[in-house]
Amino acid sequence: MSVALKKSIIDQLGSHVTAVGFAPANRFKDAPEKHHPTNACKDAQTVIVFGITMPQGMLHSPDYNLHFLHRTYHTVYMHLDKLGLDLCNFIESQGDYFAVPIPSFAPLVYHDLEPWGIISLKHAAVHAGLGAFGRSGLMCHPVYGSLLRLGAVVTSADLPGDPVIEEDPCPPKCNACQEVCPSEAFDSEGGFNKLTCIRSARTINLRDLET
Ligand code: SF4
Repeated sequence: MSVALKKSIIDQLGSHVTAVGFAPANRFKDAPEKHHPTNACKDAQTVIVFGITMPQGMLHSPDYNLHFLHRTYHTVYMHLDKLGLDLCNFIESQGDYFAVPIPSFAPLVYHDLEPWGIISLKHAAVHAGLGAFGRSGLMCHPVYGSLLRLGAVVTSADLPGDPVIEEDPCPPKCNACQEVCPSEAFDSEGGFNKLTCIRSARTINLRDLET
């Protein structure tokens, strides 16, 4: 296990990311078939997850919140993918290691009509100690909440994992996300339906959520 390589990876990412965490591949035992780190990288040992937060200002823009959201999401995805590519080349330059960059968005793998990431970035982030699942089904970071956009690298380098966050990120009685969900994507037990969400996500104006 290389503590030194882990430190140099953190230095390599430096201020380009808002948060970074390390998850041993053996924490992904519940990953769906074909979506385990070992399906992405030969001899996978570690998943490195990094995130960049999104400016709150765009969510509260009087007239252009959706415009900013669409543009910044596409900008951040390209940035995260470039960071992943550079990190893979850095890791492979440090020794006899494999490294693969997990796309921060597309390409996706479709199961029937449902889009899946090659590995689930939100589950990887939880396994890497970056946060815990909120009742919204999103990964909630202790500081940035669900505003972190995520990227990851899977590598055969064996690196020390970070401790996972056990605390529930949601206040005991809060259910705001399920109550205000404009697509009614949550069932009565709080279960989330991704396709219901995706179908209506395109038509929602964030300003409607503020009323
Ligand atoms: S709105 Fe409330 S219940 Fe939903 S994720 Fe946020 S804190 Fe949790």
